[in-house]
Amino acid sequence: MNGRQLITDTQNTWCPGCGNFSIQHTLKNVLADREREGQSLDNVVLVSGIGCHAKIADYLNINSFYSLHGRTIPVATGLKLANPGLTVICCAGDGDCYAEGLDHLIFAAKRNIDLTVIVHNNRVYGLTTGQYTPTSPRGFKGKSTPLGTREDPFNPLELMLASGATYVARGYSKKMDLLRRLIREGVGHKGFAFIDVLQICATFFPAADYYSPRVYDLEGHDPADFEAACAKAREWDYNGDAPIALGTFYRKTAPVFGGNVAGRKMSAGDREQAVREVLEKRT
Ligand code: SF4
Repeated sequence: MNGRQLITDTQNTWCPGCGNFSIQHTLKNVLADREREGQSLDNVVLVSGIGCHAKIADYLNINSFYSLHGRTIPVATGLKLANPGLTVICCAGDGDCYAEGLDHLIFAAKRNIDLTVIVHNNRVYGLTTGQYTPTSPRGFKGKSTPLGTREDPFNPLELMLASGATYVARGYSKKMDLLRRLIREGVGHKGFAFIDVLQICATFFPAADYYSPRVYDLEGHDPADFEAACAKAREWDYNGDAPIALGTFYRKTAPVFGGNVAGRKMSAGDREQAVREVLEKRT
């Protein structure tokens, strides 16, 4: 279906000022660009998890799978392995993908599965009204930590670099032009593309006054240089006053997991037949 209306009529229940709007519109623009360039959106699947971010599956008019908490990546992996012709995009939350689903994230990066993972990292559980997540800053006061957290956040970029991700980037929901470039690059990347998006939660973590004076674009950085990428990723540890780099930290070409994962290559017809046989055995 070409020239489709990409925003659905579903009532949008995100809070006014929520950074999810920026991510939704940026992703919509990237998809519209692809369609204009002659790539059918019928081959795109969006997988979301559970959390405020996940409603994006209701709000974008493309094939989508609203999965379970922490399970965006296994669902996306199954889709991609069953049909390698699909472009599979995961929208996940930080609580969703850095807590319950963390092992899936690490292994998808390790295997270099051909997916794009966009993390709506608002650094708080917004849907459940404000508990701390793995990336909340030390001292964060929320429903579950009224006196402030006593833990440091972990650094998802450093973790993804160590895990083998072949595309690693960071965006910000208030820098939509940059975010558009990053999502476009990530979706076009052959392999595991990871984009951590600093997303404003207007209600439970309205951090724009913290982020906006600190962010800067990575310029003159060579994304092929792994050591430089690690150094840039460590510059800000999701705490404190350090400058916050945005852009493409790392990119490399590497064999992707899939295609002949079972030790043999299958045509699209053979694959369809194999799936049909499995389904018939179950009925
Ligand atoms: Fe957005 Fe936060 Fe509201 Fe959720 S609670 S919709 S993340 S502003």
